[in-house]
Amino acid sequence: MSGQEIEFVKEAFTSNWVAPCGPNQEAFEQEMAEYVGVKGAVAVSSGTAAIHLALRLCGVGPGDVVFCSSLTFIGSATPILFLGATPVFIDSDPASWNMSPPALETAFAKAKSKGKLPKAVIVVNLYGQCADYDSLKPICDRYQVPLIEDAAESLGATYRGKASGTLGKFGVLSFNGNKIITTSGGGMLLADDLDALNKARYWATQARDPALHYEHSELGYNYRMSNVLAGIGRGQLKVLEDRVKTRREIFDRYYQALNGIVGVEFMPEPSYGQSNRWLTVLTLEKNCKASPLTVINRLDAEDIEARPVWKPLHLQPVFKGYQYYPHQLESSFSDKVFQYGLCLPSGTNLQVTDQNRIVSIILDIL
Ligand SMILES: *Cc1c(COP(=O)(O)O)cnc(C)c1O
Repeated sequence: MSGQEIEFVKEAFTSNWVAPCGPNQEAFEQEMAEYVGVKGAVAVSSGTAAIHLALRLCGVGPGDVVFCSSLTFIGSATPILFLGATPVFIDSDPASWNMSPPALETAFAKAKSKGKLPKAVIVVNLYGQCADYDSLKPICDRYQVPLIEDAAESLGATYRGKASGTLGKFGVLSFNGNKIITTSGGGMLLADDLDALNKARYWATQARDPALHYEHSELGYNYRMSNVLAGIGRGQLKVLEDRVKTRREIFDRYYQALNGIVGVEFMPEPSYGQSNRWLTVLTLEKNCKASPLTVINRLDAEDIEARPVWKPLHLQPVFKGYQYYPHQLESSFSDKVFQYGLCLPSGTNLQVTDQNRIVSIILDIL
């Protein structure tokens, strides 16, 4: 917490707005919509809930197909199954570590030949970095399939001057505890289509029709963000820019210290935009002196937490048997990143002295 959240939370308590709805909820939606530059927003209980609502707005239902990035956290894809649809996973490319345009193109061509196009494409911005939308969006447009931008990790990042969250038909944010700003748990759906957002708001509040006696003609969910948590979000939004700056500085210090070591490659940042560097991620390739697991274990022995990169969804037991399109024929890039990738401690409260300690341990191993 930055300290600025408590005033908004206090306001919620003193005005007794301790309910899902209330002035903080509305204000948080407006302030976020204004910050990223979209017409509207719906604050919900998680990023996963926001993806669920976005998919339903795209008309996804039983028997439909949805394309989704494979190299991501599972929350990107579980809502596809909630709706009874079938995921098809798309690999990343080495330039951005995000959805590979050629793999997407191949998946679309195959889907067309089978006479079953997807109802939506979920493009993830991995570790705070935007995918290449100028390559991906025209492909989706050509097949007239809506693009959902999973910006859960990339709030504060930009793509060709535009804010992350505004690059698809729908944008999805997460305010889970691990994200760049948090409401302890929460998410948001962003769009310019206010009618669609109203529909999402309706579904997110148990699809209650306008009648005194609780009338329901559609199935809904209990997905709204509480007014108390929205207060936390309003305070957090004020420090977002500082956090992006800090995370980028953390990345730069790791880069200065570790770049150039044999086998060490940092996650690249394409020239089309600015990553929020949510996490500093690198790969320790075959010719490196130690594997990621060795480094993780050595750091763990010093009470320092580091982790592998996300295990790609096409390799997850729960998604066994679903189709997967690699970046190149018989060459999956995300498998390689999973094998060699390492996420370093990147929290905004990481002190320089702590980071120096981490760096010296890694230098010692490598
Ligand atoms: C965190 C995350 C989600 C899910 O958000 P929750 O708020 O945890 O439900 C979805 N996609 C990505 C890429 C994420 O990192």
